Formats: sequence, C-alpha cells, structure tokens
Amino acid sequence: MTDRPPPEPGGATVDAIAALRRLSRDIGRDRTLTQAAGGNTSLKQDGILWVKASGTWLAEAETRDIFVPVRIAPLLEALRTGDARAEKATDFVASELSDSALRPSIETAVHAAMPQPVVLHVHCVNTIARAALDDGEARITRRLTEAGLAGRFAYIPYCRPGVPLARQIARIASERIDIVVLGNHGLIVAGTDIADAARRLDVVVAALAIPPRPTSELSETAALSELAAGTPYRLPGDATAHHLARDPDSFRVARAGPLYPDHVIFLGEMVATVTPKKAAMAEFLASWQAAPGDAPSLLLVQGAGVLVHERLTAGGEALVGCLVDVAARIPADAALNPLTTDDIHHLTHWEAETYRQTLDRPGAAAPGPGAA
Ligand SMILES: [Zn+2]
Repeated sequence: MTDRPPPEPGGATVDAIAALRRLSRDIGRDRTLTQAAGGNTSLKQDGILWVKASGTWLAEAETRDIFVPVRIAPLLEALRTGDARAEKATDFVASELSDSALRPSIETAVHAAMPQPVVLHVHCVNTIARAALDDGEARITRRLTEAGLAGRFAYIPYCRPGVPLARQIARIASERIDIVVLGNHGLIVAGTDIADAARRLDVVVAALAIPPRPTSELSETAALSELAAGTPYRLPGDATAHHLARDPDSFRVARAGPLYPDHVIFLGEMVATVTPKKAAMAEFLASWQAAPGDAPSLLLVQGAGVLVHERLTAGGEALVGCLVDVAARIPADAALNPLTTDDIHHLTHWEAETYRQTLDRPGAAAPGPGAA
C-alpha cells in the first residue's frame, strides 16, 4: 500500500478511525441495535482507547467528533486496584490527542477490559428480548451454541453498567471470548479489526433474532388527542408506540417494570396506565397534582394507544421505540425478569448517568471546541 494515510497522533490511522466512524453511524441508525445515546464503540491502538463520548449518539459519528482518546494502561490499573477514577475515566483522557471537551462513555472501562482491538456494545432489541427473561441465559446459550459459537461467548447476569460491569467483564475477558451477552442490558461483540467485529455482530444478531409480532400503526388518533387536550401529555412521535397499549402481550411487558437501564434513565421507573375515558384521565392527573414533575413519561391508554409527557426528550422518544421493539419480540408465555428496586436505585443515584441525562436536554449537546 503506497497511499496509506499517515498515522494520527496516538497512532490511530485515519482509515481505521474512518472505518470506526462509518460502522458506528450504521449501528446508530439501526433502532434495533441502538437508541438515543445508548450503545458505544471503540478502537484500541498503541495504548489508546478511542471510545464514544458519553451522551453522544452513535448515529452522529460521521458528522460530529464523538470519540475521546483514553489511556488504557492507567485505566485498567485503576479498575484493578479499585481506584474510583476508573468510573468516569476523565483523568485518563489523552487530552493532547483531542480538543473535545466531552467525557468518555460511562462504559469506557467495559471497553478497556476487553482485550480485542475493536469492541462494539449495542442495546440490541433481539438480545434484550431474551436477556430480560427469567430463563434468558438458557435461551441465549442454546441459540448461540446452535449457531456454532460455543466457547466464544460469555453471559453476565445484570449488574450496573460502568465499573461493576467492567469488573465482571475483566473476570471472563480473553482473546477467545469475543461475544458477551449482558443480562437485562444488551450485547458486546469484539473483533481483531472493524470488519471482523462488524461480521461477528451480524452473526450474533442473526442467531438471536426473534420475529416481532406485527405492529400496526394507529391511523385514527383523534380520540387520543382529545384525551390529551389540556393535559401535559401528547401523542408520541413514533406511531408504532401505540402498539404497547393495543397488543395485550406487549401491554404485559410494558407494565412489568423496567427491563434494562436506559429505560430507567430516559423514561423513568414507572409506566402508568389509564382506561380511555376522560374521567380516568382526570383521576390520573389529580393523583400527580402534588408532584407534577414526577408524573410518568409514558402513559398507556389501555386498548387505545400511548401518550407521552410533554417533557419527553428525543432520547425518551427513542426509548419508547426500544420498548415497542423489545415487547413485540417477547413471547406471551415468557416469565419476565425486570430490574429490582435496588438496581433502579443504583442507576438513578449514579452521577455519570445524571451527566448523560443533562446532555439529552434540548440545546445541551454542545460539542467541544475542536468538534467537527
Ligand atoms: Zn449499555
């Protein structure tokens, strides 16, 4: 190769970073793989981990500078010794390589703990629809084994993202394990290069795929609009959302309690239900009169459709879509395994998530001074 681009500072070649950006954009545009600022990708080169910045969207990977360079060795040492700085990883940013003012992903230590050069972490709805079940591990083990992937994958029961999850990853990490399924969370796939990781992601998603129950768009929304008139609720941006209240099996899933972390972060811990009557709506609103700011983001109008709170952000809208896609894939007879009260508490009292939420507010996503 005579026309190979010169290395960037830190050794990441321009073509490897460009390939990471392209794949990240493609993953970010697929709502069955990532939603909003969820999911993250990384590339390791010459001791530096180029990892997605917290609060940024993978879909923006080619239009905005979303990757932050982080020194791997001191981060892994911090993870190993229980140094609290491993959580935010901001102290390990190689700031001489980037002008970005953004923080590394909340899952940076997870990426560092995998030895492979490329790591893709996705909130794949096909994976979540299995990994949120009581017998999720058995179902996933069976599917991946049938796909010829025995010995290549590990299953980690739910633990809080960030350092607790990175510690579990570190326990199982090896060159041989390039697929890690995360209970009540998603999927990690690794590879020797971008193309290798991308191929493996396709193979695993195909192995775990579940045909969704058909989601019919609701054509007539006048009655729902009328129910919402004069209230802080509105119709959702995504017309498929109504399926959550109209399909009894999806309705069961939506009411079971949060099944994965980003549901808690972007939609809150409670999904409310009302019957499609003005009196029921009035009673519901009255019950939140003392604390209107805490009123649920997602309101299922039983048998009729869905309303969302007017404060719902673009991230929240994307997580409504995720719930639609997950719920439509969960069989009617499957026992669900929602997050526990403790799990939810640890998510909502985690500073790194509070920061990520601030970037989800309108006008808050200010790129760093050097951002493209
Ligand atoms: Zn995640």
